[in-house]
Amino acid sequence: MTHGDKFIPELLAPAGSLEKLKVATLYGAHAVYLGGQSFGLRSAAENFTSVELREGVEFAHARGTKVFVVLNSFLHDHDLENLVDFICELEQLKVDAVIVSDLGVIETIKKHTNLEIHLSTQASCLNIASAMLWKKMGVKRVVLGREVSIADAKKIKQATGLEVELFIHGSMCMAYSGNCVISNYTQGRDSNRGGCAHSCRFEYQLDFKNPDIVAKNSYFMSSKDLMGIRLLQDFIDAEIDSLKVEGRMKSHHYAGTVSQVYSEALNFYREHGHFLSDDLERWENELRKVSHRDYTEGSLVEEAGSDSIYHEREGVIQDFQVIGVVSQTLKDQCILLEVRSPFRQKCEVEIVPFSGGPIHVAELEFSTFNGERPSKSRPGTLVKIPYYPEVEPFNLVRARVES
Ligand code: SF4
Repeated sequence: MTHGDKFIPELLAPAGSLEKLKVATLYGAHAVYLGGQSFGLRSAAENFTSVELREGVEFAHARGTKVFVVLNSFLHDHDLENLVDFICELEQLKVDAVIVSDLGVIETIKKHTNLEIHLSTQASCLNIASAMLWKKMGVKRVVLGREVSIADAKKIKQATGLEVELFIHGSMCMAYSGNCVISNYTQGRDSNRGGCAHSCRFEYQLDFKNPDIVAKNSYFMSSKDLMGIRLLQDFIDAEIDSLKVEGRMKSHHYAGTVSQVYSEALNFYREHGHFLSDDLERWENELRKVSHRDYTEGSLVEEAGSDSIYHEREGVIQDFQVIGVVSQTLKDQCILLEVRSPFRQKCEVEIVPFSGGPIHVAELEFSTFNGERPSKSRPGTLVKIPYYPEVEPFNLVRARVES
């Protein structure tokens, strides 16, 4: 997308559920991707029913946000039975594109619809020759493998005239973007049909025959998470069309925070034409507040090496967690907060507006609907908290995780 003479990439966020679609949209994503009940690669994500899909598309389109639907499972003949009905429904709903990896699915889509086709990262397109072939097959955009650098993505775009999409944030995969069966063998869950158990994050014992190599337990296949906020200028200079955030199975906090940080950064660039190091540091600190596994820039500049491995432990780093979502604001009176995790009176929280930095509240006081002041809130209930003019429905409220 271009604004004036400045090229601004699209920010594409994950929408693992209807509510996460709304959160990502309201926090500034330019496009979201989601899965229906079948054919997507995240079987455990809260995939969209037809009714939710319709509501999600209407909600996103009303705010200028595009909706892409993933159809990137590798399908057997018996899986294809319902595909035609589903893709015709997607066309009728006016989804903006479908993300596909299987040649048979591409052929079926072309035969029955005019849907725009994006090639899934699952197809591991890494070079110009491959991209040209996919273009001939009718693909408009390639979601490049995480193994491709920003510089190579630029060359692929220039040589093919295709739109290119590159991951900027989220979990990494140690295989060529999901072409892996570790999970199948260790957990009986098929990585290429939505069941990846992230078996590469587990601890394994190295058991080499070479006596010089000592057998030891290690997380030697466990990758750090990707964060490209400090490479935004490079993405823009290379005119990468779309910046993809991984994580349909991740939390509302993740969907909202990552969308907010990257969209604020792109908006800043649109207005000023540059970034400031203080802002980059602040945005990086915000991204450290969501659950993550230590960050790396992966292969975005140079090929990922051993410093991309997360040797320490299997767990994640989580400084903050969402304790509630703003349900309603009653001007000059109070805010109604839907409690997601229990919290105590006078705990320290941050309210995250759709733009601008978080509002810090040193001691949050709350009461129930009938004015009681319990010592601890109950998940699933509505509580009243003080009014802040910047706060809007769907804003997230988070608290530091107690150690
Ligand atoms: S187990 Fe790891 S390497 Fe294999 S598909 Fe899942 S994330 Fe990728």
